[in-house]
Amino acid sequence: MPKKNPAPQQCLTNFENIEPLFNQEFGTNDPIFPEWTLERMPRNVNIKRIKLGKNQMLGRWLYGSYNTKGKFRCLKCIKSGIVDNDATWSSAYTTILCRAYYGPDTDEYGQDWIGGWIQMKVFAQQCTKCDEYVTVELDNQKCQNFVTWLHRWIAHKFYGYPLPSFGYRGKKSDGPHLANRCEACHAGWCHFHGNKSQNKKFLIKE
Ligand SMILES: [Zn+2]
Ligand SMILES: [Zn+2]
Repeated sequence: MPKKNPAPQQCLTNFENIEPLFNQEFGTNDPIFPEWTLERMPRNVNIKRIKLGKNQMLGRWLYGSYNTKGKFRCLKCIKSGIVDNDATWSSAYTTILCRAYYGPDTDEYGQDWIGGWIQMKVFAQQCTKCDEYVTVELDNQKCQNFVTWLHRWIAHKFYGYPLPSFGYRGKKSDGPHLANRCEACHAGWCHFHGNKSQNKKFLIKE
């Protein structure tokens, strides 16, 4: 029997939006780094910042985080009939965690390669209505801004290029940030200014 084609997805995931932009940026923009690959962060990776050393390294991986402004939509609430406004929020503290490694690696066929690997994770936020963890929806421009930052970050950290400051840093006027509903705050990566005390609370709980 011929394999059925998968049904076309209604919207692409952030990773599916970002990956082609990444290939474009790293493959064609000066300085080009075509030997780098972008992957999703595997689920079993411990992303707690407190486990990292001062140089942001854990084992062979270098960690870094990017802050952007993002829109969240709780599909569970929307499906259950809650009006869109109550199930939608935007956050000035939306965090993407990256870790990068350059060196030898073995692919799925047992072939050894020298190259660069970047793994990324977009942190979720918890819906205040139903407690569901919701992944941010990043528009094309925000994905591109992230990829531009990623390119500069790699150029700086692995090749010594200067690093201009990047990313949306948030403002005090952006309103309260629900740190206890933010996965990045829990992991210690959120750029939210108040996250120090949250980290402490989290540490004590553990
Ligand atoms: Zn919800
Ligand atoms: Zn946060």
